[in-house]
Amino acid sequence: MKKSVLLNIKTLGLILIIVLCLLLVGCNNKTDDENGKTDDQSGENQGGEVKPIDDDPKEEDPANVTVTNWKILEGTDSVTTVYKFTTDKEGPKVAIVGGIHGDETAGWTAGLRLVTALETENGICGEILLIPQANILADKADSRYKVTGYDFSDLNRSFPVGRYESAKEASIQISSAIVETVEAFEPDYIIDLHESLHSWEQQEEGLKTTLGNTLIASNNSRFMRQLIKRYNETYRLESETEFRQEGANQLGSFNYYFTTTYPDKVVYTIETNRGYENGVNTIDLEIRVRHQLNILEAMFDLIWTRS
Ligand SMILES: [Zn+2]
Repeated sequence: MKKSVLLNIKTLGLILIIVLCLLLVGCNNKTDDENGKTDDQSGENQGGEVKPIDDDPKEEDPANVTVTNWKILEGTDSVTTVYKFTTDKEGPKVAIVGGIHGDETAGWTAGLRLVTALETENGICGEILLIPQANILADKADSRYKVTGYDFSDLNRSFPVGRYESAKEASIQISSAIVETVEAFEPDYIIDLHESLHSWEQQEEGLKTTLGNTLIASNNSRFMRQLIKRYNETYRLESETEFRQEGANQLGSFNYYFTTTYPDKVVYTIETNRGYENGVNTIDLEIRVRHQLNILEAMFDLIWTRS
């Protein structure tokens, strides 16, 4: 008899402890509900740590992104679309321009992918200006700049600083519209997307155009070192060539204009490698687009707060 009373007391104690535990768990859930958090936004997804309940829940929420777009070069056949991503979170202003050279397909393909991808990028903040196809007729013709029926010169030798004497009016007009649009945005980071026929590794083979797997930049060497390290260590496949920095930017290029006009801004050109042999790109377009987008991911890792 005594034994069973003792047992009942123990059972009762156990039940009490279980009830108390359930109540405590319920409190946590209620707090999350009150904060308007969903499971996806709880601190548990960030390395198993539950955030203190008095944390500002706004810090956890993704930014609200507004996308607007408009045309530049209207009234000409080079009319092209500009996209602007505005967020409700403080952050840097980034300008990305693709398609200055039409046959450097991975550049403008990456630019076009960004039109839909940027809106839901993890950690997006600040503002982004995107011109995917700066030289749209050349892009469509898969040509560096020559398009039948148009009197173009190399667009990347037609920008205002160091512009080639041979620059043609139609290309100067495009370069002016690009400069005006980017300058009006007042960006902190200015990037253009290009490709090269060969990789820097092949320089000793006596090949020309060996800018592949480089980022062309003359200023902000500290940031560029961080960016290249981040890409090589985090995104590059072990079997793939490392990216490295190249300092020699071309007179009359987009890069040269912005580097010389805004020396305190981060300006760089992405040059992926086409692996060009006997008139054919031997490196698959999807791989080159991945390289383009992953360099940008590495940059966003550095300039945004990402979970
Ligand atoms: Zn190019």
